[in-house]
Amino acid sequence: MTISPQNLTIDKKNETNNAVGAGLKIGVLALQGAFLEHANMLRKLGAEPVEVRLPQDLADLDGLIIPGGESTTIGKLANQFGLIEPLQAFISAGHALWGTCAGLIFLAKNIGATGSGGHVVPPRLAVMDVTVDRNAFGRQVDSFEADLRLNFAPDEAPFRAVFIRAPKIESVGPQVEVLAQLADGALVAARQENLLVTAFHPELTNDLRFHRYFLEMVRQYQEA
Ligand code: GLN
Repeated sequence: MTISPQNLTIDKKNETNNAVGAGLKIGVLALQGAFLEHANMLRKLGAEPVEVRLPQDLADLDGLIIPGGESTTIGKLANQFGLIEPLQAFISAGHALWGTCAGLIFLAKNIGATGSGGHVVPPRLAVMDVTVDRNAFGRQVDSFEADLRLNFAPDEAPFRAVFIRAPKIESVGPQVEVLAQLADGALVAARQENLLVTAFHPELTNDLRFHRYFLEMVRQYQEA
C-alpha cells in the first residue's frame, strides 16, 4: 500500500479508537437478543468479544454485556444454564457489567407494577438498586429515537438513542448515578459502581461513545 496523507489519517483514527479496548476480553451474553451487534462495536474499539452461554465461558473475562432481547426469555435461559449465581459472583468480584434494554431488566433489583407486562417478573440478577418499568412506553410507541445529553460528556453532541419496547427506570437508589434522561425527565441510563444500564440500544447505532465509556469502566475496575 502506498503511503499517502489519506492513509495516515485513517490509521491514526483507528489507532485512537482501538486504544481503549486493546487487550480487553469482553463477554457478551449470547442466549438470545442483540449480541452480534455488541460484538461488532467491541471489535471496532479494539476489544475481543467472547460469546457467553455457560458459566465456564466467564473465565478470564474483563467485563460482560447483557444485550437487549426479551427479558423473560433471557432470564429463563440464564436460570436453566446455571448462570445466575456465577454472574452474581462475577459482579461481586468487581468486574464491570453493562445491561442494555432487557439487560437492564435482568440487572434491576425491583420491577415496577405499571407498564404493559409490568406484572411479569422474570428471573434476574437483582443487583442494581433501580426500579424498572417493563415496556413503559406502551404499545402505541413500541420504538422511537431520541437525542440524549450525556452527563459524562455534557459538551459533546447529543447521543441519538434507539428505543425498542424499552423499559424505563422509575427510581434509583442513593448509590446510583443518572447518566441520561429523556426530555420529559424519564431516566434511561445509569451507573452504580461497576454496573452500567441503558434502556436503549447503542449497539444499533454507529455511535461508539457508550461502548467506549463501558470499556473505560472495565479498565478502571481491572486496576482497582
Ligand atoms: N420489552 C423487552 C422486555 O421486557 C425488552 C426490549 C428490548 O430489549 N429491546 O424484555
